[in-house]
Amino acid sequence: MPVKTKAKAAANPYQPFIDALKKKQTELLDSYQRDKAAGNAQPDDGIQDLADKAASAYSKELNFSLSDGERNLLMLIDEAFVRVNNDTYGTCGNCGNTIGEKRLQAVPWTPFCIDCQELQEKGLLS
Ligand SMILES: [Zn+2]
Repeated sequence: MPVKTKAKAAANPYQPFIDALKKKQTELLDSYQRDKAAGNAQPDDGIQDLADKAASAYSKELNFSLSDGERNLLMLIDEAFVRVNNDTYGTCGNCGNTIGEKRLQAVPWTPFCIDCQELQEKGLLS
């Protein structure tokens, strides 16, 4: 089911990476939805409003069907979309350098350039 996106994103040079982010997010959410449908243990009480439902879907229900790594990835993807909206996508969140295209191709959700990612993995980023 294609979703019509707003036209203003068309000129974004990072559009291929944003598309990749959307695809990955859809994959993760699809597998979550499948798991949920298979389990079908959650009764719909009809009381929660949609915002509550969305919030609890992220904070609670996802815990049961997605691995830690998948949940982290969804969070990173969410944060990447925030950066897209802020026009800071593709810029390292630590040092402010531009993140290389090859790196964005491999990990379009990354908030850091390769140097800062290494620091973070060593626990050296505050
Ligand atoms: Zn950096």
